[in-house]
Amino acid sequence: MLLPSAGVKPHAAGSTLKTIVLDAGHGGQDPGCNGAGEIWEKNVTLAITLKLGKLLEDSMKDVKVVYTRKTDKFVELWERPNQANKDNADLFISIHCNANNNTAAAGSETYFMGLHKTSGNLEVSKRENSVITYESDYKTNERYGGFDPNSPESHIIFTLVQNAFLQQSLKFSQMVENQTGAISKVKSRGIKQAGFLVLWQTAMPSVLVETGFLTNASDRAVLKSEEGQKIIAKGIYKAIVAYKKELEKSAAIKAEKKNTATDSTKSAKNIR
Ligand SMILES: [Zn+2]
Repeated sequence: MLLPSAGVKPHAAGSTLKTIVLDAGHGGQDPGCNGAGEIWEKNVTLAITLKLGKLLEDSMKDVKVVYTRKTDKFVELWERPNQANKDNADLFISIHCNANNNTAAAGSETYFMGLHKTSGNLEVSKRENSVITYESDYKTNERYGGFDPNSPESHIIFTLVQNAFLQQSLKFSQMVENQTGAISKVKSRGIKQAGFLVLWQTAMPSVLVETGFLTNASDRAVLKSEEGQKIIAKGIYKAIVAYKKELEKSAAIKAEKKNTATDSTKSAKNIR
């Protein structure tokens, strides 16, 4: 298997927030999951992504927003993190909707890359990873390093890889769940870990938001409506604001420490 981020030039990702990549899950021939024959995941993810992007563009002028898709088009899975790496992005947010045979299952979950702790988490990543089967050459595409979405071993091996941005991804996941859970009718199921191919090769903090279950009637009502989509977008936006603030605060503390160190060197010189 390929190492994650192989060939990707490291940059100071995660220390500032200058470029954000918004990844609307699925698209085109890959519709994602379906909600009771009423709506497809690809349409909901795009609607939320565009609303979130608009909020960022209108009020965070110092942040560049990059989209992996802005229309109903098919984007190969490897191309999504690849785009983020090429743009030296500082944050990658992949937006999805959940599905379950149990229609009572409801709520949002934000995932960061890691080994699944429950079979439920594994099922979610398996479903999301299986989209590569829409790509005719996925078995030979080196970008996937021999990953087979139908093999349980494949899922375990590739999640064992160390992710340099784990702490920040975890922190941002928590912020997304806190903020969306506080304002949306979709209740928060908390943060989770699983191995998502789309997050695997990102060279920056990255999360995948399962905004709610399309298979649950009350979640679906929220996810289908303009108002519900707006509120979810607002929640993720507020998480980005909080995350940016925290990055700036720690950068200021670092600068302060550096100044203090320089000052003491100066006074030490004066004494001599
Ligand atoms: Zn999805």
